[in-house]
Amino acid sequence: TVRVRFAPSPTGMFHVGGARSALQNWIFAKQRGGVFVLRVEDTDAARNKPEWTEGILSALEWIGIARGSYEGPYFQSSYAAEHRTAASRLHEGGRAYYCDCTREAVQARTGSPHSGYDGFCRDRDLGPGAGRALRFRTPDEGATVVVDLIRGEPTFENRLIEDFVIARSDGSPVFLLANVVDDMTMGITHVIRAEEHLPNTPKQQLLWEALGVKPPVWAHVPVVVNEKRQKLSKRRDKVALEAYRDEGYLADAMRNYLMLLGWAPSGDREIVPWSVIEEEFRLEQVNPSSAFFDEKKLRAFNGEYIRALPVAEFVAACQPWLTGTATIAPPPWQPDEFDADTFAAVAPLAQTRIAVLSEIVPNVDFLFLDSPLIDEGAWAKAMKEGAGDLLDAAITAFTAIPSWDAESTKSALEAVGAEHGLKLGKAQAPVRVAVTGRRVGLPLFESLEVLGRERTLTRLRAARV
Ligand code: GLU
Repeated sequence: TVRVRFAPSPTGMFHVGGARSALQNWIFAKQRGGVFVLRVEDTDAARNKPEWTEGILSALEWIGIARGSYEGPYFQSSYAAEHRTAASRLHEGGRAYYCDCTREAVQARTGSPHSGYDGFCRDRDLGPGAGRALRFRTPDEGATVVVDLIRGEPTFENRLIEDFVIARSDGSPVFLLANVVDDMTMGITHVIRAEEHLPNTPKQQLLWEALGVKPPVWAHVPVVVNEKRQKLSKRRDKVALEAYRDEGYLADAMRNYLMLLGWAPSGDREIVPWSVIEEEFRLEQVNPSSAFFDEKKLRAFNGEYIRALPVAEFVAACQPWLTGTATIAPPPWQPDEFDADTFAAVAPLAQTRIAVLSEIVPNVDFLFLDSPLIDEGAWAKAMKEGAGDLLDAAITAFTAIPSWDAESTKSALEAVGAEHGLKLGKAQAPVRVAVTGRRVGLPLFESLEVLGRERTLTRLRAARV
């Protein structure tokens, strides 16, 4: 059976590129009735934290890779004995040797800091001991051909691969070896991972062969880059899957978008049901060049997913931002000021206007606060010459209309505008700012209807003092 793994290092937030590889592994296994293994590569004790592991597991769950539906998580740190056994086997079999050369000594011999190790200790037959690292003896001839589902058969000349270290002088195996040994222990048949690991792959494949196990099939998926074609970086770009989740991206939109990086479903479509992606995705079709992570496009995408939700689901999806349980800033109103029915009344209007769920808050806050939060810039712009007269006339007209609904307030304001020589759009501006505090927002007259006559008039009057 096919066995794949996703092997994150818990050294930070969960990178969107990692999420993409996880999904690709997940689908690959699913299509073949195979097994997805999760392995946490936690051997870099200085940089690992348990909360990063927890963050990765819950972010995976969010995009549909739920605990209990895969094998693991295994932890690399629990396999230290296997790593050491492999290192000694390589030594005993003559495939690795101890070396006490310092970097300076190698440089002095080769005359260059970049030439790599020169093989000086190959035949010196040093045993293990303090200050001695274990090096793998790479073949002098031939080539290592990596079978890669995305990249064809990248070929590496063995004589150009230096005798690399597999265990440090304190006896601890290096990551390169631990990673191979774990893949072997876990029976991995296909390694689907980021392109940045490709340069290590010939070394790793040599280790597989030296340990007498058939190497896996590889697939190195292209890096994800920003609009300047730079590799997405923690410091520069928004890379954490958690950040997107907390802002209110929908998991369905996110995972669909991640799968579109370097690949597309058939028929010129981008937004398709997840089942179509699961059916049609082929690693062989993934474009080997780097993939642009276009945040603007993702946003637009997310907006479409939001609009496609049944209203009740949209209302439910907004709850964390409305109640302040989302991890970003809580809403400006007190919990007892919020009213679910009021929200339900405007939800369909808001649903068509927001691209991420957290944007729901500034769109509806005027409904739940005693007085609106004023955008000073918008206020200054809307309350120019003549706005006072217009507001006074609107107060009179709104007081007089027999029934308080969107149509009535609209025709009343239309008439008021006409008296002042203003089209409806212009006449709306001061009313909107007085009532909502903002220049843009939900459709005005529906908003007034939900807000009610009394509160509307109070705010219009307040704008006149
Ligand atoms: N732990 C490695 C990483 O996070 C993954 C190595 C691999 O997939 O082989 O980059």
